[in-house]
Amino acid sequence: MNKKRIQDTAARVNDREQQYTQVSYDPIDTHHFGAINTPIYQTSLFAFETYEAFEQSMKDLQNNHVYSRGNNPTVSYLENKLAELEGGEQAKCFASGMAAISSAILSVVSSGDHVVCVNQVYGPTREFLSDYLRRFDVETTFIDGSSIANWENAVQPNTKLFYLESPTSLVFELQDLQACTTLARKSGAVTIIDNTWATPFYQKPLEIGVDLVVHSISKYLGGHSDLVGGVVIGARKWMERIANVEYMLLGGLMTPQTAALVSRGLRTLPLRLERHEASALLVAEHLQGLPIATRVNHPGLPGYAQYDLAIRQMSGTSGLFSFESDKPIEQLKQWASELRYFKIGVSWGGFESLVTVNRVQYEGEESARHIVRLHIGLEDPQELIRDIDEACRNVF
Ligand SMILES: *Cc1c(COP(=O)(O)O)cnc(C)c1O
Repeated sequence: MNKKRIQDTAARVNDREQQYTQVSYDPIDTHHFGAINTPIYQTSLFAFETYEAFEQSMKDLQNNHVYSRGNNPTVSYLENKLAELEGGEQAKCFASGMAAISSAILSVVSSGDHVVCVNQVYGPTREFLSDYLRRFDVETTFIDGSSIANWENAVQPNTKLFYLESPTSLVFELQDLQACTTLARKSGAVTIIDNTWATPFYQKPLEIGVDLVVHSISKYLGGHSDLVGGVVIGARKWMERIANVEYMLLGGLMTPQTAALVSRGLRTLPLRLERHEASALLVAEHLQGLPIATRVNHPGLPGYAQYDLAIRQMSGTSGLFSFESDKPIEQLKQWASELRYFKIGVSWGGFESLVTVNRVQYEGEESARHIVRLHIGLEDPQELIRDIDEACRNVF
């Protein structure tokens, strides 16, 4: 390793150590006998001794305890932690990633507005923008987000929102966050990013200038494939509107039980991610040498087309990546069925390794691509590599 690379690595490890502190430090909970975990407040409402106190609290449902669609202490504890980790002033947790995403988008757009969005965005987000919001006269232009010229060309006088997902979660294409936010500011547009893949541990878009960050908590933040949740994080001026309007009116709240599970998962986020990262890089490098893979899409591989951008705007990479294959789709499905450690299933971010086989063709592409997506779990990476090799021998 050359000197520059060693210095960069040292700086990144140092940066991560600060984040370990952010994840792990808790003041002692003086309300609950010093309980080391925030108790689960299994309650819908909070009662008052006097009518005066009740009326006082009703004036601010977000910061007082009145009703659990508003403010539940177990959920608020998690929201404060996520805000701190992401470097935002405020966070609001939702029932799912999609509840968070749709609420964040609805807080920005009105009838007659225009949205620019990356064309490889998460499927239901795409459907929400392209189909659902069209009913309310909101129009979306989907672009190849990897080139800033495409963003520039898509901007219209009524463009209100740039919706980003970097990297995307099937072909792992990145957007230049600095360039996108600069252009958005110039164009009078708000920026939202789906940061689920990198997590706040490896990417901090708010520091770069993005306005709102959304996550599916169901992936790495929860980390154990046992819950569904979402969060929106950003500056108070955006979050107050989301908390008082979209959250309260659409009502997609996170339950206190779920929040307690997420808080528990969050304690090991750095440890889990570093293992996912290391194992995924090993498996991805191995796949680069196999005939099943014509191309490996992993932003952390030095040969990856957007590698320089990846290490500039992320401090690490997670465990989900894909490879492209010229094998027939039915053979690839058979290969996936042969795998023993990798289970066939959607979602990702938990202990177990997962696989899906996809046939996709994005706008502007001449032919469909066969894309195998792998989530590298916390199992022994050498076992995973042996599993892949054995399935290749059995099928091809
Ligand atoms: C899973 C996922 C979502 C949706 O989250 P849910 O919790 O399933 O609603 C959004 N974006 C990305 C990138 C995801 O992987």
